[in-house]
Amino acid sequence: MRPDLSPYLRFDVHNVVEAIAATRWVDRHSGVKYEKCDYRPCGKLFQVTSKHGRKFCPIPSKTESFCANAHKKSEARRKQDDFVALFLEGRRNGLSEKRIRSSRAAKAIGLAPKALEAAVKRAKEQAKQQTRGLLRV
Ligand SMILES: [Zn+2]
Repeated sequence: MRPDLSPYLRFDVHNVVEAIAATRWVDRHSGVKYEKCDYRPCGKLFQVTSKHGRKFCPIPSKTESFCANAHKKSEARRKQDDFVALFLEGRRNGLSEKRIRSSRAAKAIGLAPKALEAAVKRAKEQAKQQTRGLLRV
C-alpha cells in the first residue's frame, strides 16, 4: 500500500493558548473572517460565511438572531423615549400635539406609525402625571 503523500500541516501545542493561536492562524491563512457583533452588550465574534454584511451574531440560527432582535427593540425604545421627551418639551412650550407630530424633529426621530401612537400615548400619560404633580423629580 502506498503511503498518503498529500500535504498536511501539523501543530504540536503544549497548552490551550497555543491551541487557540494555532486555530486562529489556520483560520486566518485559509481566508476565514470574523466580525464583532454590533449589539453592544454582546460583542462576540462570529464567523463571516457570506457577503451579506451581517452585523449581529447568528444565534440561535442563521435566519434568527437574539442580538438583532434585542438591538431592534432597544432602538425602537430609544426612539420612543426621544419622542416622549420631544413631546413633553413641545407641550411645555405651548405647542399643539399636531404641531409636535408634524415637526421636523419628530420626523427626524423616524418612528413607525404604530410606534408613534404608542409614544404619543406614553407622552400624554407622563404629561398628565406631571401636571398632577405625581411625578417626583
Ligand atoms: Zn451578539
